[in-house]
Amino acid sequence: MADVEERQVHGLKIRIDRTLCVGFGECVEAAPEAFRLDGQDVVEFAAPERVSREELLRACQACPVDALSVLDSEGRQLVP
Ligand code: SF4
Repeated sequence: MADVEERQVHGLKIRIDRTLCVGFGECVEAAPEAFRLDGQDVVEFAAPERVSREELLRACQACPVDALSVLDSEGRQLVP
């Protein structure tokens, strides 16, 4: 899998930097439908479109190492 994964969801661009993820799973706890850990305990997308915009933002904000970033449709960085 690529080091960086991106999805467009609810007008947000969500980016996972898998090189930064330390796998404690705060994002998975906050939004288990959106994120999961792979076999190496590195985060990957599950089904982020099933989760509300607010829940996605909260889950991305929960990351202690800024592995999850969020941009809005105008390219403004909302998280971290
Ligand atoms: S909260 Fe951050 S470090 Fe923890 S699993 Fe999610 S992306 Fe990885």
